Amino acid sequence: MTSQVKTESGRHLSKIMRDCYMDIHQRAAQGAFVIWIAINVPAELFAGFDNVIYAVPESHAATSAAKGVGALQCEKAEKIGYSMDLCSYARIDIGTVADGGNDSPTFGLPAPQMLVSDNNNCSLLVKWFDVHHRQMGIPHYIVDVPFCYSPQREKDRKYIVEQFRGLIRAIEEKSGQRHDMDRVREAMQYTSEGLAHWKRFLSLAAHRPSAITAFDSFVQMAPFLTLRGTPQFAEHYRLLADETEQLVADSRFPVPNEKYRLFWDNIAPWHQLRNMSARLAQMDANIIGATYTQCIGTVEGSFQPHLYAGGDPLDYMARTQNAYVCPHGMELRSRAMAEAVETLGVDGIVFASNRSCKPYSITQIDQMKQMTETLGIPAVMIDVDHADARKFSQETAYLRIEALLESIEAGRVTVS
Ligand code: SF4
Repeated sequence: MTSQVKTESGRHLSKIMRDCYMDIHQRAAQGAFVIWIAINVPAELFAGFDNVIYAVPESHAATSAAKGVGALQCEKAEKIGYSMDLCSYARIDIGTVADGGNDSPTFGLPAPQMLVSDNNNCSLLVKWFDVHHRQMGIPHYIVDVPFCYSPQREKDRKYIVEQFRGLIRAIEEKSGQRHDMDRVREAMQYTSEGLAHWKRFLSLAAHRPSAITAFDSFVQMAPFLTLRGTPQFAEHYRLLADETEQLVADSRFPVPNEKYRLFWDNIAPWHQLRNMSARLAQMDANIIGATYTQCIGTVEGSFQPHLYAGGDPLDYMARTQNAYVCPHGMELRSRAMAEAVETLGVDGIVFASNRSCKPYSITQIDQMKQMTETLGIPAVMIDVDHADARKFSQETAYLRIEALLESIEAGRVTVS
């Protein structure tokens, strides 16, 4: 059995993602008010409207990369003057829009009437949405989220909540629809339910051998971008967690002879998922977890779930605005990583220095040093680009990963 095995949850994922993209195209054609949002913008907010739908350019970009057309779409942006040094997600979407959706695995995204971005992860994303704002001549609402080098302050949370209220007013005005907060509460419950199942799924990496690979979790995170706040979202993650528990009960593991349990730091290498999981499995190695998937639905400094427990949904949404790793300083990043390394029983860490995502990569050299010194486990750094396969050398990467496995082995010999 290899990783990314075709399971019922795998088939279900393909179906709900296909349906989701078809649904937004169809509803847009029938007159829904369409908003393009950044990944961190709380999608549950739109459940409060009768006929407002959202599409996520980052999801489209990741899907394009995973389907092998990332570099092709990037080149279209480069041909109209965008630098190859810009984030490949941005280049994929700018290129796709410039070429009218050609070569896109989802036929592009439905044309929006509004854009909503935020600066929690990086300022490049705001500039990228500004390009669409100029390309399409539509309003661009920017949510300003303070960086968090320490736990989020109450005044920052209130500041974010006020901006969410402003966003609701702006959509009411532009779409002519009224917003109903009770429906947002209900959507938040579905998200929370799904999140609890997601965490149950990820926790099965602690089993020896691990019940999951990080590659499976990368693929399975897609609904977090496009289906939050829906019954399908909660149901999908229940199915995934139940099914994975059953695989453990049946002693079916992605890398049955697992000798090396690795942890990944950075965005998924979308164009390499199948190759990398197969090649590592041949070496009896498994990347069992990743900061990228562990951080979903958490708050800074820990990978424990932060679930919605009722109350003001805007307050909860604001509290989780710093969930992703990029806005965190090194201390918070290291605290969360150390927790995961210990809980999952990790032997070594792969820091993937990402040519596109500078905010994710900027602290990695220092963090790698700190992790090896404080936790005493080997780590290695490889060069990747999450969506542009032209910036990845397989041979160089595997040479370093093999060196990491040798260090783990050498450490075991020394200890015994
Ligand atoms: S640079 Fe990183 S955080 Fe910014 S848009 Fe690209 S992938 Fe996202």
